[in-house]
Amino acid sequence: MPASALVHTTFHGDAYPAAARPADWRTHAACAGLPDETVFARRPKPALPALRACAICPVRRRCLETVAPAESWFDGVSGGRLWRNGREVRIPADLDPERDLAVDHPDHP
Ligand code: SF4
Repeated sequence: MPASALVHTTFHGDAYPAAARPADWRTHAACAGLPDETVFARRPKPALPALRACAICPVRRRCLETVAPAESWFDGVSGGRLWRNGREVRIPADLDPERDLAVDHPDHP
């Protein structure tokens, strides 16, 4: 999620203002700093930057548990998946975010 989400008191169901919270898991989000247009995208292509961030995110499981996309009817990226109305959106093979990571990896020939 983008840094701006850190002050969205309703995102992830958190009622505490950002300034009052101790450093929480969101400060470790690999998607921090990405624009809302990618983190809260409803379609695969605009969601790709966030999905790529998820692939290296240290709080992936926590993100998915907290957002609980199916229960919250979430729209956007959480836990390495794209959700629309709480249902997982299939990512077409030609947009596979992890395939792109493999190509970009410095150890990849
Ligand atoms: S799992 Fe993805 S959406 Fe969730 S905090 Fe990490 S990078 Fe962001």
